[in-house]
Amino acid sequence: MATIIDGKAVSAAIREEIAKEVETFKAQTGVTPGLAVIIVGEDPASTVYVRNKHKACLDVGMFSEVRRMKEETTEEELLAVIDEMNRDDKLHGILVQLPLPKHIDEKKVIRAISASKDVDAFHPENVGKIMIGDYDLLPCTPAGVMALLDYYKVEIQGKECVVIGRSNIVGKPQALLLLERNGTVTVCHSRTKNLSEVTRRADILVAAVGRPRFVTADMVKEGAVVIDVGINRDENGRLVGDVDFEAVEKKASAITPVPGGVGPMTITMLLKNTLTAARVALKK
Ligand code: NAP
Repeated sequence: MATIIDGKAVSAAIREEIAKEVETFKAQTGVTPGLAVIIVGEDPASTVYVRNKHKACLDVGMFSEVRRMKEETTEEELLAVIDEMNRDDKLHGILVQLPLPKHIDEKKVIRAISASKDVDAFHPENVGKIMIGDYDLLPCTPAGVMALLDYYKVEIQGKECVVIGRSNIVGKPQALLLLERNGTVTVCHSRTKNLSEVTRRADILVAAVGRPRFVTADMVKEGAVVIDVGINRDENGRLVGDVDFEAVEKKASAITPVPGGVGPMTITMLLKNTLTAARVALKK
């Protein structure tokens, strides 16, 4: 039976560490690390995410501002708020909750956030820095996966790492981070031929597909470490990952559950980025 990688426990341990670091930082600088989250509209899932981010900030002793804007907010109004927040010294991190209403250009909004406050690490400047391995901020979900692998002392160097998915927020940066740690990385996507032949080579398999139970046991090598980034609803409305957990658990050496695996790590890495952004801003 596989080791169950407990994202909740790892997350709690890291948040405790962050809370201590925040305390020290405040004592040294007199400044409280601050995060602003902007939400446009009332998408129910986004509303829950924003509430959780706000609470997580307060729990580790950070300042948190949530700016709720109406669905009809214009692009100009949103850009004006970002501009104001870029110049606000209380705020070290700014996050615009995605997705945005269709009439707002997401790319333009991401580029408007000052790169040094871009705690999602979606700004092209931060993406470029990750590409060359010289960064302060990392995208939260792939960074969370790396933190889980490290916590469970999974060796990456020289291992066959296969990432299914090539999105800008998960798959691509995940591949870069595994490569940086000397993994031999293959990225798969919807046009990949003979997918299961590729995934069966993986010592570390990361699934970021967005399809319930997509990764079946026959796609996994005996003893592989399987990381499930997916958050999906199955036909019965149950929250499931991209991996057929019950079947794959019998073959893997370690596996993340959904929920309770990668999910809790994402906000934890957001807190880490906010503290990092505050440190960089104050050169501490
Ligand atoms: P996305 O932008 O939809 O990307 C999905 C990727 O999967 C694409 O690259 C796509 O390939 C690939 N794909 C789709 N069908 C495939 C198939 N049949 N075979 C091989 N590859 C296939 O999704 P995402 O934003 O990366 O998110 C992926 C999953 O992670 C979702 O379930 C999402 O909810 C979850 N997620 C979780 C967290 C967290 O905090 N845990 C954070 C972000 C996302 P193409 O590029 O060829 O289309």
